[in-house]
Amino acid sequence: MKQKRRSFIKTVGIVAGGVALAPSFASQSAFANTGEFSLPALPYKFNELEPAIDTKTMEIHHGKHHLAYINNLNKAVSENPAAQGKSLEQLLAGISGYPTVIRNNAGGHWNHSFFWKCMKPGGSLPSKKLVESINSGFKSMDELKKAFGEAAKSRFGSGWAWLVLNKGALEIGSSPNQDNPLMDISELKGTPLLALDVWEHAYYLKYQNRRTDYIEAWWSVVDWEEVSSRYEKAMK
Ligand code: MN
Repeated sequence: MKQKRRSFIKTVGIVAGGVALAPSFASQSAFANTGEFSLPALPYKFNELEPAIDTKTMEIHHGKHHLAYINNLNKAVSENPAAQGKSLEQLLAGISGYPTVIRNNAGGHWNHSFFWKCMKPGGSLPSKKLVESINSGFKSMDELKKAFGEAAKSRFGSGWAWLVLNKGALEIGSSPNQDNPLMDISELKGTPLLALDVWEHAYYLKYQNRRTDYIEAWWSVVDWEEVSSRYEKAMK
């Protein structure tokens, strides 16, 4: 009797969990965040970046991958007293002093939080000031896209492509794994303005091995208005 009751409760638990999560990942309260860092809500719906980025990829990327970085970060911080009470940016700035598990997951959390805000359904246009800076640094927007695409394509394995503002100049580069330009160990320095996730989990469901097609399609959802406001803030 006892055994039967336990298995009944277990089954109900699974069904209830499935019902709670199945209709949409959008309800942030559905996620169990276990520490000080928590999953930010997406500024759009999972299907709104179609066709550039498919709904399923967005659901898994945000609700599974990004959440996993956060949960792993919270766990790692709870086990590392030196990392406690620090902001995410503080952790990144001194990342050489922490274990790899914090480097990977603090980077993963920051990079994804930033990446979601690099995109907007339908995309948007850059400000006049940013266009001027792009023209003087790269000759044209097309040339910037070419250079950025090259950085994204040539990043071997998993990583990110970046547009940064470094000492008043726009620069393009890439980072391995979940590293980013805010980390003290990063070769690429500067204020991040735009980032593209080139991990296979970001594109494999729709594009399989065709990273180049993913990069090309991604330009249609880049929020250049947001990039412009980051640029103007960093120039002040
Ligand atoms: Mn990712």
